[in-house]
This record gives sequence, structure tokens and C-alpha cells, in this order.
Amino acid sequence: MPYRAWFQCINDQCKKQYPLNSIIYRCTACGSLLEVQHDMQVLAHRSATAWMKLFEDRYKSTQWPYGSGVWGKKEWILPQINDDNVVSLYEGGSNLFWAERFGKMIGIDNLWLKLCGNSHSGSFKDLGMTVLVSMVKQMISEGAPIQAVACASTGDTSAALAVYCAAAGIPSIVLLPKGKISIAQLVQPIANGALVLSLDTDFDGCMRVVQEITKDETIYLANSMNSLRIEGQKTVGIEIVQQFDWEVPDVIIIPGGNLGNVSALGSGLLMMRDLGLISRLPRIVVAQAERANPLYRSYLKNFETFEPIQAEKTLASAIQIGNPVSIQKAIRTLKQFNGIVMDATEQELADAAALGDTTGMFNCPHTGVALAALIKLIKAGKIDKSEHVVVISTAHGLKFTDFKVKYHEGTLDFPCHYANKPIDLPPNVDAVKEALRQELKKRREQNV
Ligand SMILES: *Cc1c(COP(=O)(O)O)cnc(C)c1O
Ligand SMILES: [Zn+2]
Repeated sequence: MPYRAWFQCINDQCKKQYPLNSIIYRCTACGSLLEVQHDMQVLAHRSATAWMKLFEDRYKSTQWPYGSGVWGKKEWILPQINDDNVVSLYEGGSNLFWAERFGKMIGIDNLWLKLCGNSHSGSFKDLGMTVLVSMVKQMISEGAPIQAVACASTGDTSAALAVYCAAAGIPSIVLLPKGKISIAQLVQPIANGALVLSLDTDFDGCMRVVQEITKDETIYLANSMNSLRIEGQKTVGIEIVQQFDWEVPDVIIIPGGNLGNVSALGSGLLMMRDLGLISRLPRIVVAQAERANPLYRSYLKNFETFEPIQAEKTLASAIQIGNPVSIQKAIRTLKQFNGIVMDATEQELADAAALGDTTGMFNCPHTGVALAALIKLIKAGKIDKSEHVVVISTAHGLKFTDFKVKYHEGTLDFPCHYANKPIDLPPNVDAVKEALRQELKKRREQNV
């Protein structure tokens, strides 16, 4: 029997279904978001052990396209796609490392970092975009009238969309909030030939516009309300467990903005449980910037109410979102995973990122938010010294050099505890020796 997946309305009272090649982002009956559902009975014909063996055999191989961390799990992601239509840059398979020194500093023994930013466009957005753009390629080959793919973005989505569309030869359109994303992020879609529209608004404003222009079926919407992206992103949790030889960690911490990624994380783990690959679930922690924390506010009220907010400017620019599209999915996930939400101030996120860097990380500000949340949860006694914790690092630090430069120059509007300023000296051996003597002594004393 063939493996099969379809779009399904997330509203339990509705559950209307649509084929994956329809141009649709919300339920036409009730307006709710859609999610991809798989025929689990057919998937269950293969045993858990056989799935694990298959995934291991394919992992990082050169067998097209199964060496990709996403397409190695193709039957669980997008079974009906023709291999010829897969647009892959060998995403996934990112490193997971033991952050021993940082863990010790903050009081836990078993802390790991999953570096999703070590990816083609430098963020986890690649995991979802490979799936979406592959589906678009298949739809175009079937005669769909799609002429371009568009997204609103805080930076990383547009970079991923532009690069996958460039690889496939499909035009892309990106709507960016003017002056609110890093130069490194802006230059990516420009270099990859996207049509870049810079709008004088914030992310939520760009999102409103892109939803209007994609009502025209010739422009396909690539934001994460399009649940095809979630299918690719859900491999992150599966891959983490696989990297631990199918052991489930106790806690996974993930920074959240539009909240697609936390839903994706949950969805992959639930699929593993339902197909018998794992027998317990980790706790999930979503970390938000205090200046863009609508989920945290709702969490404090036990998710009984949710109010969108006006997000304020934060260094964690990719999660500066006040009205997250995937709020309902995220709340559902947190309830299933005994979830916690924590927020972090600008100073907390910047210091946490910088402290991590002193132990050999190179954190983006969003990873800083997650690390700050971890530090606060350990202090509050909500995460125990012996627990096995994974922090999902969502982007590469090199995409956020302005943040790091300002931090180390000490030009942010708070004290930067770990600022490391270069020392200006004349090109003179004695001056250099004297500076080394003083500075190395200082460092020995501070023990950093
Ligand atoms: C997109 C993004 C996030 C947030 O993911 P959501 O699915 O919007 O919650 C976090 N960090 C980085 C670096 C991102 O690009
Ligand atoms: Zn519906």
C-alpha cells in the first residue's frame, strides 16, 4: 500500500481534508490553519526497528536525495513527491554537541546544543523550505499556474526561500520590514536573485500584505502558516533522538516567534512515539524575548486566554513577532509536552549568548534567548542538575555580526558583562609584552 499524506484542518470540530497539491493555506470551511496528516496505518506496517535502520542507513549518505536530513525521512514527510522534483541542498544532519564547559558554568552536567544554523542558508528554515519548494516544483510540473513563491520574513525565511527557489529556477518574492533585519540576512535574498520588497513596517505588517497578495493563485505563500514547512522542520526532533541512538532527552529548549517551529518539533516527536520508535516524550520549553512575549503572557494564565501584542524592537530580531500565526498549534504542543514558556530581557539574552561564546559557541541572539531561559529555569529549580537538556540553536552567529560587534564594543543600551574589546597598541614588542602580562594576569584572576 502506498504511503499517503494530506492537508487537514486543525479544528477538531471540522477536520476537513485537502490534497497536498492544492493551493490552500487555511481551511475553506472554518478558516483554521491546516496541518499535514499521514496515513499512520500504512506507516505502521514497517516496524519501529526497521524505520530506525532505514533512517540510519540513509543518514548523510550521498544517495540522492536520501542523504538529506529531511529526505532521509521522506515517507514521514512528503511521501507522494517524485524524487525528480525534490529541491534539496542536503539540509539537516547538523551537529549536536556536548556543551560541557558552559553547562558546568550554569550548573548542569548534560547540556547539548543542536546547531541548526550550520545549514545552507544559516538557519533551521532550510529544513522546511526544501519541502515547500519541492512541492511547488511538483505542482508546476503538474500544470499549476504558480509563477512565483512569496514570503514575509524577519530575515531567515526569506534567505531560505530565495536560495531554494534559486536552486530550482523558480522566481521568489520576499517582503522584509525595512531596517529591522541584519545586513547579512538582507544580502542573502539579494544575492540569490529574489525580488526584494522592503516595507516600512514590522514583520506583522509584512505578513498582512503577503497574505493579501497570495490570494492570487499565481503567487504561492511560503510562510509557516503553510504547513508544508512544518513537515520538514519536524525532522529536528527526530534527528536529535536519532543522534542520541534513539534515546529521548529530558528537556528540549527552543526559541519561538511565529511558533511554527515548536509545533514542528512536537509533531516529529509525536510521530516517533505513535510509530513506536520512542516510548516517552521530552519536556518542551519555548523561550521568548521579553519584548515579544505574547506566548509567555498566555502561559502565565494557563493558556486560558491569548492576546496578540505589539512586539517591541529586540536584538532577537527573528522572533520579534507579536501576533504569532501558529499560536493554537503551539499551545496544543505545550500542553502535550508538559511545556514551559520563559522569557528573557535584552541584557539576559545578550549576556547568555556572549557567555556561551566564551566557551566555544558562536551564538545568534535567538539562541541567546534560549540559553538565558535555561539559566533562569535552573535558578528557579525547574530544570535539575542531572537532566539531559538540548538547546536548539536556530541560526548561525555569523548572520548576526552587528549584534556581536555592538555587544563587544559595549554600545548596547545596557552593561555588556562579557564584552571583549580589542586592545589598540603601537607595533612595538615591549608594549605588546607589557599588555600581554597585564591582560593574561587579569584573565587568570577572573578565570575566564
Ligand atoms: C524563524 C526563527 C525563529 C522562530 O521560529 P518560529 O517558527 O517563528 O517560532 C527563531 N530563531 C531564528 C534564528 C529564526 O530564524
Ligand atoms: Zn476547518
